[in-house]
Amino acid sequence: MIADMATEIEAARLLTFNAAAMRDRGENFSAAASMAKVFASEMANQVAYRALQIHGGYGYIKDFPVERYYRDARVLTLYEGTSEIQRTVISNYLLGGNAFASELPESR
Ligand SMILES: Cc1cc2nc3c(=O)[nH]c(=O)nc-3n(C[C@H](O)[C@H](O)[C@H](O)COP(=O)(O)OP(=O)(O)OC[C@H]3O[C@@H](n4cnc5c(N)ncnc54)[C@H](O)[C@@H]3O)c2cc1C
Repeated sequence: MIADMATEIEAARLLTFNAAAMRDRGENFSAAASMAKVFASEMANQVAYRALQIHGGYGYIKDFPVERYYRDARVLTLYEGTSEIQRTVISNYLLGGNAFASELPESR
């Protein structure tokens, strides 16, 4: 579990660096930023879940910080664009569509 957690954290870091590098180069980085945000925030939940599991019952009580990490990770998929909205941005980029067209007709 720890090997998978470290690997996923590194993957999230590289996706984030990639989006930042695209921005630095003046490229369209919207989809890359959304990929980094949705992957990193969902990954944080998985990593915190497994960290709690490794601690067993101690992961559930407040004597150890892991229960706090588990609670705090949950909000990451909500603020600054929920995971569903990040996926909408990514699929719009891939498919050339506009999922918000019916809500925002003036944006066309
Ligand atoms: C701790 C915290 C800090 C925050 N800080 C800020 C801040 O500093 N600045 C700021 O502007 N906002 C902030 N927010 C607000 C945050 O950005 C919103 O919570 C977020 O945009 C979701 O909006 P909502 O809560 O109204 O959910 P809703 O928009 O009502 O969405 C509810 C659920 O439906 C899903 N959903 C909505 N539309 C679609 C769709 N088209 N397709 C599929 N699923 C959809 C969402 O993904 C979500 O799971 C913060 C929120 C929290 C919890």
